[in-house]
Amino acid sequence: METVEKGQPFPCIEASSASLRTSNPIREVVDRIDTSQMNKSKPMIPLSIGDPTVFGNLNACEETIQAVVEVTKSCQANGYPKAVGMIEARTAIAKEFTVPNCSLTPADVILTSGCSHALQLCLEVLLEPGKNILIPNPGFPLYKTICDYIGAETRGYKLSPERGWQIDLKHLRALIDSNTRAILINNPSNPCGAVYPKSHLCEILKVAEEAKLPIIADEIYHQIVFPGNESIPIASLTNVVPVLSVGGLAKRFLVPGWRLGWIIVYDHHNVFSQVREGLERLSTLIMGANSLIQAALPKIIQNVPTSWHLSVLRNLHMQANYSYERLSHMNGLEPVMPQGSMYIMVGIQIEKSRDIKNDIDFCQKLLNEESVFVLPGQCFGASNYFRIVFCAPMDKLAEVGVLQDVMKLYLLIGYLRLFFQAYNRMSDFCRRHMRS
Ligand SMILES: *Cc1c(COP(=O)(O)O)cnc(C)c1O
Repeated sequence: METVEKGQPFPCIEASSASLRTSNPIREVVDRIDTSQMNKSKPMIPLSIGDPTVFGNLNACEETIQAVVEVTKSCQANGYPKAVGMIEARTAIAKEFTVPNCSLTPADVILTSGCSHALQLCLEVLLEPGKNILIPNPGFPLYKTICDYIGAETRGYKLSPERGWQIDLKHLRALIDSNTRAILINNPSNPCGAVYPKSHLCEILKVAEEAKLPIIADEIYHQIVFPGNESIPIASLTNVVPVLSVGGLAKRFLVPGWRLGWIIVYDHHNVFSQVREGLERLSTLIMGANSLIQAALPKIIQNVPTSWHLSVLRNLHMQANYSYERLSHMNGLEPVMPQGSMYIMVGIQIEKSRDIKNDIDFCQKLLNEESVFVLPGQCFGASNYFRIVFCAPMDKLAEVGVLQDVMKLYLLIGYLRLFFQAYNRMSDFCRRHMRS
């Protein structure tokens, strides 16, 4: 076969600067952790990944799966949906998330490829180089990753662990300048497990109102709150501040891989008309979210019984309590009790350490010696903390008939043993490396 004339050799093909400055801090820290020194005699217990399906013994609700099976078999959802999403699915979200002071129509909902994509669209529609946004610190690392890609600045506002990770409002105010375009809040939160009471949400709204800034509310853990806490969408507490709320199926329905999320536009006085147009235009970039999951969405929301959600929540709460109880008795550790979500942040009292330099060192040595993997706080902008993921493995535990399900019980016992073991190993580790 003839080939084109031999000429100059190919030069290195350059990647764009936007692609090369895109980095996920979790990946960067995790990649720096060396797994080659791991203690091979102990099986690895990963308490690091925010994926509720990671243990393989936690399944989505039967009704959730059935909804997707039905739409798949119907062959009615194989075409391109509208870029902003199918009307039936948007109607279901509008109905589910309407609040008394702001009733929603399907036009207020845009479906996205996971909540990550929803965040990307919201940040892209509001930001550009030279502008800035206020984000939580510690916080979910994706916010900064997306802003770096856009070329916009992020300014981290402090959260106070001693007040249940509430926002330091004075600090928040001090960060605002004429180039600030929005305040991003995450409630209930990852990695802190904080759930803000009404009074605190109102204080945040007051700051936004005074500065005339819209709010992006990452509410993907909506309703994943423990008894005694209320899950309040921030948009339900204001008649003035415009809010873009983002969420998704991933966490509440335990299907992160299905990639379905949404943006809800709460716009009381029609100040978001340009933003809506921008979001709709941006949604055409990928021609919309997965059609099968969109088509199944109304049934998923309607058919998954409350009892299933409650049983997942009970398990999460039990594991949160157990984790907190164990950790608070370990040398040199200071856990902060979560009020929701599936995470607990644990402070490391470095002044009590014998030979631990910082959180990365703690996580590395814990992995080497005990094969327990937790994420260093630096992934979230919180040095001298680490984050533990506790996930509900026992979706059916509380229901009658579980004893017949030998397989499930077997998995459950296996998981529980690992979970207890992880804390035993951590306790041994702290006895060796930290003073009491
Ligand atoms: C998991 C998570 C997301 C992303 O959700 P996906 O739907 O999987 O993209 C967004 N925000 C927070 C705080 C999360 O923990």
